[in-house]
Amino acid sequence: MPATFINGTRIAEDIKAEVTAEVGALKQKGIEPGLTVILVGNDAASSAYVNMKARTCEQVGIRSRKVVLPDTTTDGLLSQIRQLNEDDTVDGILVQLPLPKHVDKHAVLETVSPQKDVDGFHSSNLGSLVLGHETLVACTPLGVMELLRRSGVTIEGANAVVLGRSDDVGKPQAMLLMHANATVTICHSKTKNLRDVTRHADIIVAAIGRTAMLTAEFVKPGVAVIDVGTNKVSDRDEVERLFGVDAARWADFEKRGYIWVGDVDERSVKYVASFLTPVPGGVGPMTIAMLMNNTVKAARMRRGI
Ligand code: NAP
Repeated sequence: MPATFINGTRIAEDIKAEVTAEVGALKQKGIEPGLTVILVGNDAASSAYVNMKARTCEQVGIRSRKVVLPDTTTDGLLSQIRQLNEDDTVDGILVQLPLPKHVDKHAVLETVSPQKDVDGFHSSNLGSLVLGHETLVACTPLGVMELLRRSGVTIEGANAVVLGRSDDVGKPQAMLLMHANATVTICHSKTKNLRDVTRHADIIVAAIGRTAMLTAEFVKPGVAVIDVGTNKVSDRDEVERLFGVDAARWADFEKRGYIWVGDVDERSVKYVASFLTPVPGGVGPMTIAMLMNNTVKAARMRRGI
């Protein structure tokens, strides 16, 4: 039987409805959660993401502000962040990544007040996550946990394999799964015999940025697979190789000139896995829903409520 596709768009809508209710309750207490997103440079994709975040804020009732700095230095950006750290109307600060090469990303992420760090990238928040303390956690791995839980996947006692060890996805993902009592293995580009590792997994979270690399040979029957990867494919032959005559994919391709493809080979893995997230429509919508969730959490934590 083919895998059940986990509908991230629907689950994200559920979470946004919960956040909307929470925002309403906070407003009754005179608190209006606010998110400020900083956009540096002129990248069109980053600008589109920032606008999407603003629209979602509007949808759930969070006050949003956009700070656009088309041309700034590290120092200029740090001084802007420090102002926002001091601004009591701001609960969450998000610096849209990637930053231009001349800007020191590490300094930027460490300057955002940990209390307002709704991306969960500050070292003190990552440290708190390792220790299992209540804290602000990166949105994508948080979203993955919600997808698993709300789909009824058993995490406790499961062998979970996280593919990728980045600071924003792989590492926090592994910590969250471990705290949920999974037995976690982290794989990366130097892992030997990757298939032997992934074939023992009950849960796989793929976050490597390698188009459709995880094929059916990598997975055992019944595995739950969460595909974090978002790879842009604009080559016709590759679309053909990956999806054959899939009408929906081709319609998407003809409309945009490219399609988004995950790290998982959906066409083969869906016949082996029990659960699978689609790309698009799986993890992506969850990331933004969890950003809304984190902004409300930051507003609460900062006030001790
Ligand atoms: P990243 O910083 O580039 O990290 C990629 C990780 O994958 C690294 O740890 C790397 O290993 C590992 N890796 C690369 N090739 C591998 C291979 N052949 N076998 C095993 N491991 C391999 O990427 P990221 O920021 O974590 O993002 C990963 C993917 O998720 C990307 O496609 C990104 O676009 C997507 N993403 C999606 C969302 C969303 O909301 N949907 C959010 C964040 C990221 P090394 O450490 O050894 O180099």
